[in-house]
Amino acid sequence: MTQRVAYVTGGSRGIGAGIARALAGDGYDIAISYARNEKAAEATVAEIRAMGRRAMAICCDGEGNGNRAAIQRVVRDLGRIDALVCNAGVYPHGDVSEMTDAQVDAVLGLNVRAVMIEAIEASRHMTKGGRIILIGSAFADRSPFPGISLYSASKAALNGFARGAARDLGPRGITINVVQPGPIDTDMNPATGPAADLLRSFMCHKEYGQVSDIATVVSFLASPQASFITGSALTTDGGITA
Ligand code: NDP
Repeated sequence: MTQRVAYVTGGSRGIGAGIARALAGDGYDIAISYARNEKAAEATVAEIRAMGRRAMAICCDGEGNGNRAAIQRVVRDLGRIDALVCNAGVYPHGDVSEMTDAQVDAVLGLNVRAVMIEAIEASRHMTKGGRIILIGSAFADRSPFPGISLYSASKAALNGFARGAARDLGPRGITINVVQPGPIDTDMNPATGPAADLLRSFMCHKEYGQVSDIATVVSFLASPQASFITGSALTTDGGITA
């Protein structure tokens, strides 16, 4: 059987590292990207190699122009790309009237533009059974509190992109879906402090999710069993948008 390859952006830490480990467990060889945290990226790569898989890390600031080249490097060094998980993202906060042009550019650059370019380039190399999974947010559908307009809009853009691209990629047997997490305990959104208490109060579960809650969903979407799911947004949010 052909050895499948997955590329997870922002796989050095948090949700991305959990996804990379889960896909390695499913039998994928793994490439991850990181922006600044080389040590964390190396630790993830070492863990995956210890599982008996090939693994590599690529330094790529998603706000720059390296996103297409990073995909090409995965194909060159690991031979192919079967699954792309666009996970790297930023979470800017602030009143909409106080947002700067630079903040708008940064959130669109990483959360939207990079994702589109990665999906476009990866789709050119994928064959039947290819999987593109975008990490969106439950806040694309609802904003339960103030200060997240840029973030919500950037993640909502992924849903429209996935629905449209699903039409183009479906005839080639490639699926594209969005996973919409709710609060997950990571460096971006730690489960302690007043902000976490507020978020928890909106949730049915009253508890933050763990990285593995999202990795499990991505692992399923990347599997052959999920071939009939495309153009969908799977909300995995402990009921924060219920
Ligand atoms: P973390 O902040 O814990 O990790 C972010 C990852 O993205 C790291 O690997 C980081 O690399 C990478 N990254 C950060 N900035 C850039 C950049 N400019 N270019 C390339 N890579 C970058 O985030 P989470 O794991 O919490 O979030 C992952 C995704 O899940 C994001 O898209 C986020 O919006 C989404 N999400 C998270 C939720 C949560 O509650 N945690 C809820 C809903 C959605 P490095 O280590 O080098 O800094």
